[in-house]
Amino acid sequence: MARHLFPLALCVVSVLCFYGSSSPVVAMQTSSVPSSRAAEGSAALPAPRDVLGFSPGDDRTIADWRQITDYFARLDKASDRVVIQTVGETTLGRPLIVAFISAPENLRNLDKYREMQRRLADPRLVADKAERERLIREGRTVVAISCSIHSTEIVASQMSMQLAYELGIAADHETQEILQNTILILIPSANPDGVDIVANWYRNTLNTAYEGTGPPELYHHYAGHDNDRDWFMLNLKETQAITRLFWREWFPQIVYDVHQQEQTGARIFVPPFYDPPNPYIAPLLLRGVGALGYKMADDLQAAGQQGVLTNAKYDAWWHGGFHTAPYYHNSIGVLSEAASARLMTPVVVTRDALAKNSSRGLPSALQTTTNFPDPWAGGLWRPRDIMRMEMTAARSLLSMAAKHRADYLRNFHELGRRAVSYPMSLERPMAYLIPAGQGRDEAVAKMVATLVWQGVEVHRLDQELHIFPVGLTADLGHSSRSQEVPAGSYLILLAQPFRANVLALFEPQTYPPRRTAEGAAESPYDVAGWTLPMQMGVEATPVGGIRELAHERRLTLIREEAEVRVDLALPPRPRAQGGKSPTANPLRRPVRVALYRGWTGTTDEGWTRFVLDTFNVPYSLLRDAGVHAGRLRERYDVIIVPSARAKEITYGNPAGTYPPEFTGGITAEGIQNLRRFVEAGGTLVCFGASTELAIKNLNLPVRDVLEGVSPAEFYCPGSILRADVDTTHPMARGVAPVTDVFFINGPAFEVLDPRRARTVARYAGRGVLRSGWLLGEERIAGKAALVEVALGAGRVILFSFRPQHRGQTWGTFQLIFGALEGDTGKR
Ligand SMILES: [Zn+2]
Repeated sequence: MARHLFPLALCVVSVLCFYGSSSPVVAMQTSSVPSSRAAEGSAALPAPRDVLGFSPGDDRTIADWRQITDYFARLDKASDRVVIQTVGETTLGRPLIVAFISAPENLRNLDKYREMQRRLADPRLVADKAERERLIREGRTVVAISCSIHSTEIVASQMSMQLAYELGIAADHETQEILQNTILILIPSANPDGVDIVANWYRNTLNTAYEGTGPPELYHHYAGHDNDRDWFMLNLKETQAITRLFWREWFPQIVYDVHQQEQTGARIFVPPFYDPPNPYIAPLLLRGVGALGYKMADDLQAAGQQGVLTNAKYDAWWHGGFHTAPYYHNSIGVLSEAASARLMTPVVVTRDALAKNSSRGLPSALQTTTNFPDPWAGGLWRPRDIMRMEMTAARSLLSMAAKHRADYLRNFHELGRRAVSYPMSLERPMAYLIPAGQGRDEAVAKMVATLVWQGVEVHRLDQELHIFPVGLTADLGHSSRSQEVPAGSYLILLAQPFRANVLALFEPQTYPPRRTAEGAAESPYDVAGWTLPMQMGVEATPVGGIRELAHERRLTLIREEAEVRVDLALPPRPRAQGGKSPTANPLRRPVRVALYRGWTGTTDEGWTRFVLDTFNVPYSLLRDAGVHAGRLRERYDVIIVPSARAKEITYGNPAGTYPPEFTGGITAEGIQNLRRFVEAGGTLVCFGASTELAIKNLNLPVRDVLEGVSPAEFYCPGSILRADVDTTHPMARGVAPVTDVFFINGPAFEVLDPRRARTVARYAGRGVLRSGWLLGEERIAGKAALVEVALGAGRVILFSFRPQHRGQTWGTFQLIFGALEGDTGKR
């Protein structure tokens, strides 16, 4: 697929033109942020207003990525407290920048502090107690603050300029203390492409009926909202660049990710989080998160801010978020979620709407509780209000980082020390082994590369070793109980600084079931299970012990992905920017593939595109107009419909919510065109929820046994399940007979006419759950998971699970390719 190249038509003038016009919502506000701090310093620094023509956070103004990077470049030039670094390139080719903000003498010695951080992160590099104490005495707390990874949560990206300016100019004692004791890595946006997608859309819709709506497309090219779900898998260029900066170079002790939530809830959420916590997060970190969050809440309250919520809604169970990855690197991750406006357009929030808003830990956004002591009564809510809260929260966090500098450094180092001195016991793993010769080399290479990228130590075996299984109580000298492991295997020892990350990625998740007062399953914030080897279909064995006493001599530390690819004799990844994936197209013959993409911006469509691009499978995008046009069989062999509800695909955005060209869906006429396509020999492939569209409209002899089942009886919020695969079906070529699949409250099938529908995979008869949470196993056990249905001269393929979930499920990608190839199993 052709990639867009930085399509920036700067449009400052038009913004300024619109700026003075009347708004249907509220009169213009032109005042800048009142800042006593800013007034104290010298006036040599350009204020954001001087450069942008408006103050960040002003109603109905928006700075795009070019303006933001221009402003930071000017700060870099004018201030000895600010240094800009480009840390990578975004998916669509924009520069990904970070600002280092600190006292001038700290910035002049960044290399020294980076080396100190490396030693604090890895206690094996520290010679003795004296050196440790010196590092803690002389080090600085490294804090990262990241803005607007979710691009419609736009205010923080605008706020970043004001925060940098105030830190750059202020002369007050508190700011001096922050600058001297901390090194701030400020990320104006972790998704610059999305800043422009939103800025362009916002400007184009300003003063129309659609002002303040979100763009009718994903705000990350591949991941949309899921760009904050990629932080252990590292599929995206942005995640890779920042992960490398954090966990291979700078090891920030505190990471703060600034988000926004819905308009009608609390005005802002800050930690502590709701239950359950992930068991691999060190208690010391949970306390650290809590202390920081309470201080932020306290400072917000002291500043007169109402509607501050803690201990609700957001949990610390899932892995893979910007603010959760730090926990698995011995660092503190903080999230805030301010109530949104409509992009940069103010809103009026009614008491009624607040009264109706409830979530875990918050009975109503109007009700006073211990964790929500000062509800906001409603009224006008503007971007400036969001910005004020985020500025207060950021300064509070920085002040804590400065005042308790030595504590943060000591705790961070101490957690690493405990991890590397992990006492050996045969009752639990001391390592995980990825045996050589699995026939899954691309998946193994991706997995090892992903681990190494986030600072996990992986070793290659240069000679064979003998391992003992976990739980073996016989004495280690009894060699007959050991198993030989061939050279070329990979070993991940748990005695390493980021041990928690290895455990959180390799162990199965056991989510503690939770129910609401009404007896329904209480939803976790994100998925319940994600065990990496299971998702990737890679064998990884826990190791209880190693027979060879000096086994380290047989190991080589892997430093880069390139080394793994050489080991496995895989083609190298091209070095060119935006270089293509090295992975060969797995389809054995040319197939004309179309991928359906509506105007509702579904993440599953983006991830499907990601997998097709990763494997160099050519495809066309099929939009609503293309479905309406018909004659689909002349153009395509296969049409993929990613996971979305039938209603969403059929009707799209409702009329009146978007400009007409972005509303309407495929309609009933489009459904008939899809039927004709299949009857004329085409293959329709449906993932997850979109199977509903095919089953109901094409009268397939298949029933969803979970339809209408209440969440008190069946619930599975994103878990790994076991499926038995009929490997005699051509679609399942190369797939393991027992395969782990990723399932999110999807359908499960019963075949009503076996002459027309063949089951390619079914959920295990018992022991269905492998990792996560599954309530009501008996309802899914033995049910069909993947079905091929004959219709006319063609076929419909129904995936009840998500074969390409977040680009993580390498274990089931082959089933997608098998479905695309069009081999029909005998029926
Ligand atoms: Zn968000």
